[in-house]
Amino acid sequence: KPEILKMELEALSKNEEFARVAVAVFMARLNPTLEEVDDVKTAVSEAVTNAVIHGYQGKGGIIYLEVEIDGLEISVTVKDTGIGIPDIKLAMEPMYTTDPDGERSGMGFSFMEAFMDQVEVKSATGEGTAVTMKK
Ligand code: ATP
Ligand code: MG
Repeated sequence: KPEILKMELEALSKNEEFARVAVAVFMARLNPTLEEVDDVKTAVSEAVTNAVIHGYQGKGGIIYLEVEIDGLEISVTVKDTGIGIPDIKLAMEPMYTTDPDGERSGMGFSFMEAFMDQVEVKSATGEGTAVTMKK
């Protein structure tokens, strides 16, 4: 039977660390290696940061975090009800960013895909984005 953690977080930069650490503590029951924990933390960090800065454009909102542990598998979903992504395939290209002042490198999705086994993005313009990552 899968074990589930659900959290709702305000879309603030400081909650990125909270989400990352909460997922790490929850997945400790899998007896993961340090590397596995770090991989998941990095992926969660990228997805939550995207929800804060892109989804809600820094204006705040609620981030829905859902973690499911089933056997040795972990699935993490980070969802926002922000602006949504018009072209998911394009957004997931390495180095693609809509950041206007060039501070971002457009590598968030690439990191999620590198550190997790599977990344699935569902999004609709004006409705929000859900990123589900499995390992
Ligand atoms: P970096 O992650 O390297 O700081 P980045 O955030 O621009 O840069 P990605 O994380 O790969 O790069 O995201 C690529 C693009 O996808 C973003 O620039 C943004 O346009 C879009 N995007 C990602 N997540 C969301 C989201 N939750 N809501 C709306 N747009 C998003
Ligand atoms: Mg990003």
